[in-house]
Amino acid sequence: MSEQSVLSPPAGESSPPTRLMLIGGDWVEAADGEWREITSPGRRGQVLARVPRGNAPDVDRAVSAARKAFPAWRDQHFKERQRVLLRIADALEGRAEELARLTAADTGNALRTQARPEAALLADLFRYFGGVAGEVKGTTLPAGASQLQYTRQEPLGVVGAILPWNSPLMIAGFKVPAALAAGNTIVLKAAEDAPLTILLLAEICEEFLPPGVLNVVTGTGRAAGNALVEHPGVDKISFTGSTEVGRGIAGKAGERLAHLSLELGGKNPSIVFPGAVTDELIEGLVLSSRISRQGQSCTAGSRLYLHRDVHDEVLARLAERLGAMKVGDPLDESSDIGSVINETQFDSITEYLQDGLANPALHAEVGGLPPTSGPLTEGYFHVPTLFSGGDNSFRLAREEIFGPVVVAIAWTDVDDVVRMANDTAYGLAAYVWSQDIDQAITTAHRLEAGWVQVNQGGGQVVGQSYGGYKQSGIGREVSLEGMIAGFTQTKQINVRLGSGATPAPRTGP
Ligand code: NAD
Repeated sequence: MSEQSVLSPPAGESSPPTRLMLIGGDWVEAADGEWREITSPGRRGQVLARVPRGNAPDVDRAVSAARKAFPAWRDQHFKERQRVLLRIADALEGRAEELARLTAADTGNALRTQARPEAALLADLFRYFGGVAGEVKGTTLPAGASQLQYTRQEPLGVVGAILPWNSPLMIAGFKVPAALAAGNTIVLKAAEDAPLTILLLAEICEEFLPPGVLNVVTGTGRAAGNALVEHPGVDKISFTGSTEVGRGIAGKAGERLAHLSLELGGKNPSIVFPGAVTDELIEGLVLSSRISRQGQSCTAGSRLYLHRDVHDEVLARLAERLGAMKVGDPLDESSDIGSVINETQFDSITEYLQDGLANPALHAEVGGLPPTSGPLTEGYFHVPTLFSGGDNSFRLAREEIFGPVVVAIAWTDVDDVVRMANDTAYGLAAYVWSQDIDQAITTAHRLEAGWVQVNQGGGQVVGQSYGGYKQSGIGREVSLEGMIAGFTQTKQINVRLGSGATPAPRTGP
């Protein structure tokens, strides 16, 4: 499973390399022998590899393997799971460049600005959850000398984890080490458009994990994903993806009363208060807009609320900065921005841009439709676009575009901007920019979002609580608390102690 052959196949080789799924410690094809070709979004049409098109029988095999592996994995002292996770973290770090290059090729995320930081975060997440594996602790009630009343945090069993394509390594890092540290086993369903790095992650993990503890199935959402959600042997579904698909999954998981957590879409507000327009502010806005991830981030600050006092200056400077960013081959060190994932997303973003350009109220300060000639037509490349003149009612300001498109909206009254920021079905992330820290924090507290950043716009950091309000999700990941809430269940044990001791009261439901 060498990455080299995917990124640079041997000269003269005509058929794409083959990658297999990991089930029960074996690398296998799909039971029905079907395949899917994985193409590079940065090099339109270039086939990187073919992977099995997994289906219900493959999911069934993977769930059986995970169930079989569960008791032994669960019953170990936490130090054993910890040791394994820390070794995996070291191995991931040792192969970080390989992971980064492969993820740049199969997602289109630029190597320098996105893929490398993501590979580094993955290793950090394994190290973090390995480190806190012993914190999956229960409590003891002070119930008197004749009673021992305590709780145990026990794993849920088999976790079915479903990943999106936009940052597969990071999202796998939110789920896999947390579920494993708590004693669960896993069936991971990679996104159909970006499975290659997940298979490499599995290869690295497999060296340290007993067979069946981590299984990876490739295939479509409709077939493999749905089979995982409906499988009675899966105790929990941990899903990251679109709100639309998440709603359907919630219905199916709810029907069979499986545990469920959802990390879904966002249309995140970024509120700039009056004050000095510094380079730091402009850099922060570039970062929070997730433009260097082609805007393909659920936490992208894509609604930019600019106070009228700074509106023109911020717009002009931000447009200049965005216009200077280099869009290009994701594997090229000089690219700030890579390509979007596939033709469907490319066309969808183009359609939003056409909608914006046709709206007389909106003005493109920078960007617009993608180039129609030159090297950028060789992949699914869009250029950063900043619209001014926005209004909360516009489609571009309401729907998740998942492209490098920001809509600026002017404001004057703080109550008004808070109302506009909260006027959305989503509630994932938000950003507040103000040199008046009292004002910034007061505003942060009023925003309906699971994650608010003040005067900074970076990505998730290990140990933070992460998850959405409203239709952006249910449950939390990335932190110890999220791991305990999301991947364990509480068992209460009440023990009568000592002969002749007072028995526990016999009331209760
Ligand atoms: P998607 O919902 O189309 O697919 C996500 C995953 O679900 C894929 O693996 C897909 O194969 C699978 N899937 C699709 N239909 C399914 C079904 N019926 N049953 C089971 N599985 C199914 O999302 P995407 O296009 O891959 O990713 C983009 C979306 O993900 C955006 O909306 C983005 O905001 C969201 N996202 C959210 C977060 C977060 O942390 N909140 C992070 C990344 C992406």
